[in-house]
Amino acid sequence: LRLTESPVVLIGKGSTDEFDHVKDKTRGAFLLYERPTLGELLTGKDPGTETRKFFERAKASGAAALLSIADKPFHLNDAGYSIFGQGVEGKLAPLPALNIPREEGLLLKRLLEGGAAVTLRVEVDNVVGKAAITENVVAEIPGTTRASEVVIVGGHLDSWELGNGVLDNGAGAAALLEIARAIQALKLRPERTTRFIAFGAEEIGLLGSRAYVEKHKDEMDRIRAVLIMDTGADKVLGFYLQGRTDLEQTVSRFMSALKPALDLKQMEQQAFIGTDDFFYLLQGIPVLIEDQDLTRYEQIHHTAADTLDKVNPQDYAQGIAALGGMVWQIANAPEGLGKRLTKDQVRSLLRSNGLENDVKTYGVYPQ
Ligand SMILES: [Zn+2]
Repeated sequence: LRLTESPVVLIGKGSTDEFDHVKDKTRGAFLLYERPTLGELLTGKDPGTETRKFFERAKASGAAALLSIADKPFHLNDAGYSIFGQGVEGKLAPLPALNIPREEGLLLKRLLEGGAAVTLRVEVDNVVGKAAITENVVAEIPGTTRASEVVIVGGHLDSWELGNGVLDNGAGAAALLEIARAIQALKLRPERTTRFIAFGAEEIGLLGSRAYVEKHKDEMDRIRAVLIMDTGADKVLGFYLQGRTDLEQTVSRFMSALKPALDLKQMEQQAFIGTDDFFYLLQGIPVLIEDQDLTRYEQIHHTAADTLDKVNPQDYAQGIAALGGMVWQIANAPEGLGKRLTKDQVRSLLRSNGLENDVKTYGVYPQ
């Protein structure tokens, strides 16, 4: 991509109104975009009102490229947005999308708001390669009395290239090894089969877990629960229940059983699309995602700062113990975690969590 002296146009959060406001100025321009933060995405408050529609709007405006302001502090740039915006199909965004560190982005914004005419010259030397093969790495500890029933615990193996991907998601992938090691070292055998999956290609659209679910459709009735760790190595506060209010009692009981060693309380209900539980959620299977302190993760993941020195061993051990403690109880409790939802119930969960439109545009709405 080579652009010489192209104008920059501010589109704020990228709503239809904001596009209308600058509609005569966007052709051939850079769109300076304040994209949603992780917090906004996780709480369903994405002000760009559905990321994929935003990309379509950006393309239709005739702009040359998107200039997305990083939600990381100061000069830390981040990766991933150009594809992330496209949902769950692993497709490139319909127009070039560049990330710009926050300070540089805010400077441009101030200049534009002050009425200055800003132009940029940009040279990008990346290449889009051919399709590659990636793998899901799977291991399991067979169950004893309920071996045909499966509890899945997962994280993802891939990461963005700016740092080492330690918080996102080395921490989650390594937690699987540690939980499996601890179960073996204690010479325990779970009643239900416990399957450990380090999914591939999560970052480019949950492709590994999607493929895994599609390939193993016939066993969905036997999957009793899916637990995911994907938000770093900081303290665990509880779990995201992804809209499953019917799981609250059981989750709360399992969390209390881990006292006094672990003090878990939090249960977040707002469902979101963002990690490898999602295609299981669409199948109606009960899913839990570890709810961790996001303060540092939000700043660090997908950046050059995502390196091993950011891990506090004590907090990380707490997170692994929390995940392992839940997995163990779900694998052994007679009632498991909860029931599988019908398609109707899944549709109503998506509706009440504001995800229906996203899931429909991604083409994966349960029919
Ligand atoms: Zn991740």
